[in-house]
Amino acid sequence: MCVDDSGSGPSSAARRAIERTLTVRAYRALDPPQQAVLRLALVDGMTADELARTLDTTPAGADAATARACDAFRREWLRLYAHDEDRSPRCRRTIARLEAGEHVAGAECARAADAHVEQCVPCALVAAHLDDLAHWLGPLLRSLAA
Ligand SMILES: [Zn+2]
Repeated sequence: MCVDDSGSGPSSAARRAIERTLTVRAYRALDPPQQAVLRLALVDGMTADELARTLDTTPAGADAATARACDAFRREWLRLYAHDEDRSPRCRRTIARLEAGEHVAGAECARAADAHVEQCVPCALVAAHLDDLAHWLGPLLRSLAA
């Protein structure tokens, strides 16, 4: 976890608000069974064996269900970010490319996107955490329930 998360300045507060809003909206857009899997795995901290018993499946089946739910969550999170009217067009283009998995879209275009990510805190955060977005969910959902 990034040490910067404990910062209390305006930019880190704004960043947390962005993460929280998008994360909760993405979570609520998932199917109820996917929400349940993420809640059990990330909030309740169930192991694959516990999850398998709860879902009446095998540990491998529970792992696969968790991976599918995480993937669905990540896609929804990026879709919401890329289509958020409050973001600048450059942010939305950059994140739309990440959403589509287009890491190379012409050298000039890729350089422009890389330069943007270096200057833009929210986009840098998204790019850095692309593979573990779902793991923001546990702490966020716990803090909302508190
Ligand atoms: Zn940006």
